[in-house]
Amino acid sequence: MVTMLRQRLELIEERIGRALSRAGRKRPEITLVAITKVFPAETVREAYGLGLRDFGENYVQEFQSKAPRLADLPGARFHFVGRLQSNKARRAAELFQVIETIDSGKIARKISEAGRSVEAMIEVKLSPEQAKSGVDPEHLAALIEAVRALPNLDLTGLMTMPPWSEDAEQSRPYFRRLRGLAEAHGLRSLSMGMSHDFEVAIEEGATHLRVGTALFGPRQRQ
Ligand SMILES: *Cc1c(COP(=O)(O)O)cnc(C)c1O
Repeated sequence: MVTMLRQRLELIEERIGRALSRAGRKRPEITLVAITKVFPAETVREAYGLGLRDFGENYVQEFQSKAPRLADLPGARFHFVGRLQSNKARRAAELFQVIETIDSGKIARKISEAGRSVEAMIEVKLSPEQAKSGVDPEHLAALIEAVRALPNLDLTGLMTMPPWSEDAEQSRPYFRRLRGLAEAHGLRSLSMGMSHDFEVAIEEGATHLRVGTALFGPRQRQ
């Protein structure tokens, strides 16, 4: 398993390297977030052993059961990238260092109320075909203002997930639009790009790539 993971990671790093050189960018500008949903804590530990430090999870409950076996990994940072329900927001703030999918003032307040300082990103919904979560661009400015006013949230950027397409080029307009919105609001981080389209995301300015399948192989259904 570790050998396979190492090979996949090498391939991903080659893909990242080629995209960076096309874009005239440098590796330290990119954080590779390994999306470990559905995989056991042991998989996270293997990835950590290969040098990965940022991990993404989609379900609060699932991560809650893995977290005790991951408490001894210095420097590991856990990102929440799933749909956040308000009744789980407080727990998420206790478990994760980064919450990438804030899409309402209510959720943001609940996270802040947990009293722990959390890095925050806002998920933006750029088209009706996208996942149900995410704030509409017309409400983004107000949400940014609300999040910035909260004591325990450090707002660093925006996140999006374009509608699925086999053709990575289909994601480009979404990535470009997200970058424009981030620049307009003085936000430096852009979480965009998954296994099939992260090269395009790098070309469009991504700072955080969320990669699952290309690292760990296909996921079994939960
Ligand atoms: C599952 C997931 C990913 C990873 O997708 P892959 O195609 O497996 O790389 C990235 N972001 C989010 C929000 C996800 O839910």
